[in-house]
Amino acid sequence: MEKIRTRFAPSPTGPFHMGSARTALFNYLFAKKENGVLVLRIEDTDKERSSPEWEKDIIENLKWLGIEYQEGPIRQSDRIQVYKKHLEQLLEQGRAYYCFCPQEELEAQRQEQMSRGEAPKYKGTCKTLSKEEVQKKLAEKTDSVIRFSAESKTITFKDLIRGEVKFDTGLTGDFVIAKDLSSPLYNFSVVIDDAEMQITHVIRGEDHISNTPKQILLQEALGLSRPIYAHLPLILAEDRTKLSKRHGDNSVARFKNEGYLSEAIINFLALLGWNPGDNREIFSLEELVKEFSIERIQKAGAVFNLKRLEWINGFYIRKMPIEKLAELCLPYLKGVGDIPFQTLQEVAALHQERLKKLSEISEIADFFFTENLGYPKEMLLWKDYKEKDIAKALETVAAVVSDIKEKEWNRKKLEEVLLKKAEEIGDKGYLLWPMRVALTGKKASAGPFEVADILGKEKTIERIEKAKSLLDLG
Ligand code: GLU
Repeated sequence: MEKIRTRFAPSPTGPFHMGSARTALFNYLFAKKENGVLVLRIEDTDKERSSPEWEKDIIENLKWLGIEYQEGPIRQSDRIQVYKKHLEQLLEQGRAYYCFCPQEELEAQRQEQMSRGEAPKYKGTCKTLSKEEVQKKLAEKTDSVIRFSAESKTITFKDLIRGEVKFDTGLTGDFVIAKDLSSPLYNFSVVIDDAEMQITHVIRGEDHISNTPKQILLQEALGLSRPIYAHLPLILAEDRTKLSKRHGDNSVARFKNEGYLSEAIINFLALLGWNPGDNREIFSLEELVKEFSIERIQKAGAVFNLKRLEWINGFYIRKMPIEKLAELCLPYLKGVGDIPFQTLQEVAALHQERLKKLSEISEIADFFFTENLGYPKEMLLWKDYKEKDIAKALETVAAVVSDIKEKEWNRKKLEEVLLKKAEEIGDKGYLLWPMRVALTGKKASAGPFEVADILGKEKTIERIEKAKSLLDLG
C-alpha cells in the first residue's frame, strides 16, 4: 500500500493561530495513525507579508504542542527555481500566458461585470497577443503577470469530509499563477509541491475549498497526480461568524502565555470539528492518535468555546503533580517578591482545584510573596463596626494565634482556636473578615486559616499588626 503523506503548509504572515494549529493537529493525527509522514512546508513566497519571525513562531509552538513532523521545514522561497521551470513549461505549451492589462482596466471590467450581475472574470484580452508583441512588452518592462489558460469545465472531486464536490471552472476565468517567473502565487506553488512531495492527502481549512478546482486544473495541465482532499469545517466564534482577528487574539502564543497547558489545547483543538462518537471529552495526544478518524469530522462549523477550553485546562491542572504545577506557576509570579519553592508548592496545592489557567495565580496568590499588600483600610471593615472595634478584633486574633506553638501551627489548629473564639463573641465574620483581609489584602481569596497556615506564625502576626496600625483607634 502507498505510504500516507500529509503536509501542514502555513504561510508565515502573522502569529500562528489556533485554527492553523488545528489543521496541523489533524494532519499529524491522520499521518501518525496511518504510519505515514507529516511534512512541514513553509509557504513564504509572498515576500512582503512573510517573515522569519512568524516562521519561528510556528515552529516553536508546534514543538510546544507536541505536533511532530518527519520532514521539513521546507521553505518555498528555497524552491523558486523549481516553480520557474514549471511556469516556463506552461508558457511554452501555451497553457499560460503573460498578461499586461493595467490594474485600472481590470478593475473597471470587474465593476462592469458585477453591475450586470455576472461573476467577475478575466476576459482573456492578452491571450491572443503574438510572441513578438509579448517579447516587445517584456523588453519594455511593461507591468505584467502570468495567467493560466483555464479550461471551462465541471470539476468534480471527492472530499473525505464534504463528499462529492462540483465546481464549474467556467466561472473562474484565466487566473493569475505568478507575478513573474520568480514569483509564483499560492495556487501554483502548492500544486507543484504537493506533487513533488508526494502528498497523498491534503487536509486543510474549508476556506481553501474554492481553490481546489483551480489546483486540479493546474494538476491536469502539468500532468500531475491529484491528492485526496479533506476540507476541515470552519471554526466559528461564539457569535457563529467565522473566527477571525475581530474576535480578539487567537494566537497559540496568547493561550500559552495565559497559562493554558499544551495538553489542554491539543485536547480542545481535537474536538473542534471531530468527535469520538460518544460523550468523552478528555483525550491525550496518544489517545487521539488511536481514536482519530476522518469519518468522524463534521461538515458544520465548529464553535470555539472558550469556556470549554477553560474547563479542559482546569482538568489538566487538577491532574498535575504539585511540584510541576508550582514550577509552571513560577513565571506568573516573577517580580512579586521572594518565592521559596516550598511555599510556592503549598500555594499551588491550595489553588489547584480552582485554577482555570496558570496566569490566574498571579492575581489570586501574589500576596503570599509580597509584604506590599496596598489595600485601603476600609476593606478591613465588617458590617457596621467602627474602626476601633475592628482594631479590637485584630488584636484578639493576634492574641489567639500567638498562643499557638510553632510546631502546632497548621490549618486545623488555627481553625479550632479561632472558631472557638468567634463562637464566644458570637460573630464569626467580625474576627475572620478583617483577619483574612489583613493577610491577603483582597476582597476575595482563599480562607484565613489556609492562608495563615502557609504564611507561618511570624508573618501572620506581622500582617495583623500592620492592619491594626492602619485603623483609627479614637
Ligand atoms: N499556505 C496556505 C495557508 O496557510 C496553505 C493552504 C493549503 O493547505 O493548501 O492557508
